[in-house]
Amino acid sequence: MKTGGITLRPIGYVRSSVTDPKDLPFEGVPAQIEILERWEEALDGIENYSHIIVLGHLNGAEPRSLKVHPMGISSLPEVGLLASRSPHRPNPITVTVTRLLRRKSRTLSVDPLDLIDGTPVVDIKPYHPSTDSVFGATTPDRFGLFRLIPEEELLRHLVREASRFHGEACAGLAIGVRIAWRAMKELACDLRSREVEVLSKAGGCMTDAVQALTGANSKRLRRSDELDDTIAITKGDRKLAFAISQDPRFREAEEVLRARDEEIFTLHMK
Ligand SMILES: [Zn+2]
Repeated sequence: MKTGGITLRPIGYVRSSVTDPKDLPFEGVPAQIEILERWEEALDGIENYSHIIVLGHLNGAEPRSLKVHPMGISSLPEVGLLASRSPHRPNPITVTVTRLLRRKSRTLSVDPLDLIDGTPVVDIKPYHPSTDSVFGATTPDRFGLFRLIPEEELLRHLVREASRFHGEACAGLAIGVRIAWRAMKELACDLRSREVEVLSKAGGCMTDAVQALTGANSKRLRRSDELDDTIAITKGDRKLAFAISQDPRFREAEEVLRARDEEIFTLHMK
């Protein structure tokens, strides 16, 4: 495998039920990585990590242009190739952070993986939250992108995003996600905006969801000990006060995602 004079050697290959890139969902699917026999011992200790970084190599994915539409959505303004996650790159190396479900000798079961069957894997690294994650990192406002995704799909994506911070996709987390998404629609911006501030008097799961989606540290997000099931989200002089409904009591994230806003919370705006 030669890329610009640098030789890359596959250390293994992806084994997946998906063989055509067109059939690969954006988030990826559960898959296996079969490491070559000569590298098996090099995996020792990887099983002690819950997540790994997988570097794959996409064959023949040449850059077509130095500017691309993010996620291939033509209504979004173009950005530079290197400011995007386009697969068509100078060196078509992919980077995926994925959950390591198990290691069986030289086979790693992971979920999800956004690479199709047969993709050469050129490296595996353990994922360290202490060095690989920057909680308050800033990104361009994603609201324009979010609005183009069907709401049901977007909410599932946001629950997944928030569960990376919270550790599970529980009903409380889904309630927090529903509140965060409604706030984004009312304020017409991504909650990661530095102007957005939160005061939460709601339970830990709901507050975690809002914190995950705001990327806010204690300067922008305060948690109160006096719990009264309210979350206030402000941006400049706009104030949204969410009061979480006590009835019905949701038991699963799925129920929350199917419910109407009015069943989950009441919203007062200033
Ligand atoms: Zn929870």
